[in-house]
Amino acid sequence: MIESEISRDRMQRRLDRLWEIGKTDRGGVTRLAYSEEENDAFEYVLEEISAIDSMAVEEDSIGNVFATTAPEASESLYLGSHLDSVFNGGRLDGTLGVVAALEAIEAVEASDEEPEIPPTLVLFRAEESARFGQAMIGSRGALGLLTTEDFSVVDQSNVPLWRAMQEAGFQPENLSEPTLDLNRIAGFLELHIEQGRVLDETSTNVGVVSSIRAPVRYRFEVLGDYDHSGATPMSMRRDAIAGAAEMITAVEEIGIEFDQDGDIVTTVGDITVSEGAINKVCGELSFPVDVRSNDRQFRDRIEERIVSSLEAIAEDRDLVLNTECINQTDPVELDEDMMEHLLETAESIGTSYRRLPSGGGHDAMNVQRLNIPTGMLFVPSVDGVSHNPAEETSEDAIEDAATVFARSIVDGVP
Ligand SMILES: [Zn+2]
Repeated sequence: MIESEISRDRMQRRLDRLWEIGKTDRGGVTRLAYSEEENDAFEYVLEEISAIDSMAVEEDSIGNVFATTAPEASESLYLGSHLDSVFNGGRLDGTLGVVAALEAIEAVEASDEEPEIPPTLVLFRAEESARFGQAMIGSRGALGLLTTEDFSVVDQSNVPLWRAMQEAGFQPENLSEPTLDLNRIAGFLELHIEQGRVLDETSTNVGVVSSIRAPVRYRFEVLGDYDHSGATPMSMRRDAIAGAAEMITAVEEIGIEFDQDGDIVTTVGDITVSEGAINKVCGELSFPVDVRSNDRQFRDRIEERIVSSLEAIAEDRDLVLNTECINQTDPVELDEDMMEHLLETAESIGTSYRRLPSGGGHDAMNVQRLNIPTGMLFVPSVDGVSHNPAEETSEDAIEDAATVFARSIVDGVP
């Protein structure tokens, strides 16, 4: 039986060991894209893989790793995630997906069951945008989705991506071509912590992801007049902060209003005031807006509504509003058959499960974009915490999700 080969202890030991790599004094992990710490994490997982006799390992020119039990097989089920983190992130984001995929593969190897499709473990580089402001660099490179401009993005110290890759020991080549043989990928599975509260609050162990929300992001700059707070009558002010307060509230209200009609979240996560002071009317500030949905057309409507509302508020208050769209990504519907398969498998092992959309972006969305059947499992984030040292998931849920993956390897995927 596959179930008896899944080892919680082995998974916890590996998670603990990886936690040590880049561990911060606040109990989190800083393992940035193409850092020494990311390299060390890859090296550790490679050591663990090398203990499994049947695994053949390949590394591509940007450092992604693919390890398979059947290198000669023309088709393989790919499973994995990433090993990098944000600044002072949690120990589970990405890492758990790698550890659980490895566990599923090892469990199948140790069992007497013959897999329908042999598995390949995938370790993607550089999923988090913390260092370069660009997400999913590794998976995009593996799938031929990186552009030449992407290689010139710089980190906080002005180090371009291509140089960071070189410093980490890689020589990117054939940039416009996938580094992976796409025809070999029968399907892709990724496990991740939910990063939201749905599974935790409904006491559900396994989430089957239906779609991945994608953001449209704006930066709004609000310009008024700097004036003396004591000497300027209320009627003569052009107060950028008061205007922004109304705008930010409008962004929230639009999200709440349209939440009834479809999938939408609207967020202002920051505000940057120039030369703010207690004794001045504020003349200049900026704030970002992040709008996400798994329905592009619906999101487009909300986006228009937000921009026009903010323009109207600026006009009413005689403020100048500069609007800049920072990026626009398409949401992704994951493969329906794969979803059904994962739901049935969760049912068959007797765990609690439900379908839900993903709020965050994941490597899996790039694989699905190429029409490769892709499935994602979520496990609960206790209190919805993520990108934070307090990330936590029950061992029960981790075991159940790894078991679903092991069963998927044995039974084959649609
Ligand atoms: Zn992640």
